[in-house]
Amino acid sequence: MSDPFVVVGGDAAGMSAASKARREAPDREIVVFEKGEWVSYGACGLPYYVKGEIQSLEDLVSVTPEEFREERDIDLRAGHEVVAIDTEARTVTAEGEAGTVTQSYGDLLLATGAEAVVPSIDGTDREGVYTLGSMSDGKELREYVARAREGEGFQQPDRGPACRFLEDCTGPVGVVGGGYIGIEMAEALAENGFEVTLFQRGDRVLKGFSDETSEYVADHLREEDVTLRLGAEVRELAGGDRVEAVVTADDRIEVEMVLLGTGVRPRTDLAEDAGIERGETGAVAADAYRETSAPDVYAAGDCAEATHVVTGEPTYVPLALTANRHGRAIGQTVTGTPTEGGGVAGTAAVKAFDVEAARTGILDHDEARAAGFDPVSETVTAKSRAGYYPEGGNVRITLTADRVSGRVLGASLASEYGEGAVHRSHAVVAALSEGATVADVENYDLAYAPPFNTTWDPVLVAAKVLG
Ligand code: FAD
Repeated sequence: MSDPFVVVGGDAAGMSAASKARREAPDREIVVFEKGEWVSYGACGLPYYVKGEIQSLEDLVSVTPEEFREERDIDLRAGHEVVAIDTEARTVTAEGEAGTVTQSYGDLLLATGAEAVVPSIDGTDREGVYTLGSMSDGKELREYVARAREGEGFQQPDRGPACRFLEDCTGPVGVVGGGYIGIEMAEALAENGFEVTLFQRGDRVLKGFSDETSEYVADHLREEDVTLRLGAEVRELAGGDRVEAVVTADDRIEVEMVLLGTGVRPRTDLAEDAGIERGETGAVAADAYRETSAPDVYAAGDCAEATHVVTGEPTYVPLALTANRHGRAIGQTVTGTPTEGGGVAGTAAVKAFDVEAARTGILDHDEARAAGFDPVSETVTAKSRAGYYPEGGNVRITLTADRVSGRVLGASLASEYGEGAVHRSHAVVAALSEGATVADVENYDLAYAPPFNTTWDPVLVAAKVLG
């Protein structure tokens, strides 16, 4: 009987699974369908490519299609979109340039990722409105930046000469959304000389972080001349063929381009059409082994739910490590070693110009209460290096714990870039994964040397204050 392992989606989750399966089962047939031309790429690097810090899109690729085919013996079919799954017949149907193919599977992995959300407002289809969800989006944005910087090409007919696109005359642009992609792109555009206005519906940027972290990052964005419009509900992207203004409930701000950083949604159409269950988050539901409601059909990465390590409940946190880890676990499971995918803590990090921030776990008190905890938080500011050591700065930590049990629930950290907020979050992640209490964390034997911290690392200081 034909028993191929078939993967839909050729990026982090899909290629991790295919590669692991190949290592574990050298003779098994492994087929990957990828609708685009790129595989195994690092979308996380796209803001830095647009900024110009990374020179070519190819630099973002970890393993090339040729390497997958020739060195890993994976039947990689790029340019093939899977359009249907038949879980009874155990087949998928894919469409490519050469026509339609039907492929049988022994095990199937859905690794279809997520897509950028385009808000339902007028004008999102105008020229000059971008999202950043794919390699081709990144290419278009980089070309836009290059054209603008070189003063080439584009000229708005009724808004004056193209001089606004000369090197020292880059025009106003809008970023809609103050999440991590919006902030990374605000930096990328501002560092290229654009006047950036960031529109955020809520009253703070980085919604999932603590208020203190959000304020710290927001202050720094302002210092870097990014104009923040908080509490600004964008109603329309106005203009002719091209976008000319962002219209909010109170204002109309002239812009020459708009980047929408308004979140992502899981790509679940295929699963839904095949009758595979979605969870309450809207993403594909999967058990600890990442198996869906259909036998031998697995789901991993941005299209799927994961289990939160603090609440034990399904959650949707579309980030790269989860995609890689769950893909790898599935690669082991389908080759004979059942392996759980592991939980997620919602750990995320962002750089905004000269500051860095991280968050992990449950910070929002309402969310903590809904999960049955009695949350309490403390924020401390502690030195990032020994006081006598040259350089250094501060780390601001908000630590949240359950008042009754002392269990650590989450943390939000911020510091100057390079002063360790992000790396320090890892100690808290370990605490969350182990269900540790504040007292446990206070006793963690963290490394100390003057160039890296004070004797009592800021994480220990925060635990002491909260304990
Ligand atoms: P994807 O990477 O989305 O890949 C899914 C693939 O499936 C795509 O290539 C798609 O073309 C293909 N596909 C979809 N449907 C079909 C079909 N029907 N047939 C065939 N192929 C199909 N995460 C972090 O942890 N840290 C970061 O700093 C970070 N920064 C990011 C910055 C940006 C700009 C973006 C866009 C994402 C960022 N992420 C970051 C998120 C991270 O990139 C994703 O979590 C990760 O790529 C998810 O991998 P995946 O394999 O699940 O999905």
